[in-house]
Amino acid sequence: TGTALAAALPVLQKLESCGFETVFVGGCVRDSLWKRPLKDIDIATAARPEQVMDLFPQTIPTGLKHGTVTVIHNDSHYEVTTFRTESGYEDFRRPASVQFVDNLAADLQRRDFTINAMAMRSNGEIFDPVGGLDDIRKGVLRCVGDPDARFQEDALRMLRAIRFAAEYELRIAPATWRAIKRHQRLLVNIAMERIGSECDKMIGGSHPDRAIVWFAASGLMDDTKEPLPERIQAWGGRRESLGSLANITLLDEPDDRWAACCLAGDLPLPAVKGLFQALCFSARRASRLTAIIALHEAMVEAIKNLSFRSENEWLSLLQDWKLRVLEHGEYASRAWLRIIGELPGLLPSAAERHSIPPLDRTTGSSVEADYSDSLINRLKRELDSLPAFSLSGLAADGSAVLARVGKPAGPWLGRLLEKLLRATALGEVANEKEQLLNYAEQVNRDEVIND
Ligand code: ATP
Ligand code: MG
Repeated sequence: TGTALAAALPVLQKLESCGFETVFVGGCVRDSLWKRPLKDIDIATAARPEQVMDLFPQTIPTGLKHGTVTVIHNDSHYEVTTFRTESGYEDFRRPASVQFVDNLAADLQRRDFTINAMAMRSNGEIFDPVGGLDDIRKGVLRCVGDPDARFQEDALRMLRAIRFAAEYELRIAPATWRAIKRHQRLLVNIAMERIGSECDKMIGGSHPDRAIVWFAASGLMDDTKEPLPERIQAWGGRRESLGSLANITLLDEPDDRWAACCLAGDLPLPAVKGLFQALCFSARRASRLTAIIALHEAMVEAIKNLSFRSENEWLSLLQDWKLRVLEHGEYASRAWLRIIGELPGLLPSAAERHSIPPLDRTTGSSVEADYSDSLINRLKRELDSLPAFSLSGLAADGSAVLARVGKPAGPWLGRLLEKLLRATALGEVANEKEQLLNYAEQVNRDEVIND
């Protein structure tokens, strides 16, 4: 962390040499005290934005109204923000106006939590008028100033409180906690995009399990009459879903964690789609996530209906799985296996596990001991053995099939290719060009697929 700050030091020193008090602030100070890797380096200065832009050859006017100029130094970007205070918060979110000030202590007063309101000077000295160091030592997350007022100014801070408490394993100071519970409803005033990005940081952070527990305890989503809490309860707010998410931190991928939250919350597919749309996730990301949920629903349905009495039934589940993999795609299938691998509690109830026959006689493992493990391993092996996951993986492409079948192109071609793909998955034909073309010819003869 020292080196990242050292790299930014020339920016501080240049401003200082021109007589402007300048410091590192916010997350980078907090994280360097915690000896964590730094994300972005924020700098606060007494210089006005125009003065900052005059002093450095490469700058971007990122948010002049709010006093922020991005300075590019040795290819690194630093946000340099003029000391400021804020006022006139409207509708419990962003301030209507900011006032530039010369006083660093006043700038620190507007910041959300004491651990985020420390400054570091170029000589390494910490300026800490609100007691951030003391709270780090005690392990406490505390609002700067009166918590009621601070959450009424900007309700997003309630989510940030939970994020920082979870991430840094802090307790929340009693007055701060009471204020969160008192003002939970103010969250409906906050743009879903900002909520989405906070939740994303919590889910992707070091302790999503803690964030979920804090979230549930805070009551931030208890009132389902409001449209917002109803939608975000997906990600684990339901108390009864917490148990199955206890190991969520074992999942490395943030999107695996998101999907797990939806599964634990038992959200039906349309609600999941609504959630990710509401949280402003990209369409690509939302569709990858919903594919995982859809696959889960299909597999749970298939597993639920098994009597576990016959080997054939089991084999047909495996065939069904392979077709589902093709339907929902390799990404969703691997993600789902990772999820149920770490969180087997998401599968149908344990009672049914006892009567499952050994899935793999070669391992000779006891059925009861590792039902979920052997089920998941078996599904994974089937997936790994698939010759192709999509049409582009087939050894014969559309034009080759067209040439062999010798009919004018039409919608039949796509359907025939899909058939070939499924046939490779089910082991009816090898993924080899000549065999695929023969197979295509035969299907075309047998089924006379026209149009
Ligand atoms: P991270 O980058 O890990 O999210 P951070 O502390 O750097 O943590 P940012 O959102 O980057 O958080 O904000 C930088 C600093 O700006 C914070 O440390 C805090 O001092 C201040 N800040 C950010 N958002 C708010 C807010 N909603 N209310 C008050 N101060 C805020
Ligand atoms: Mg930051």
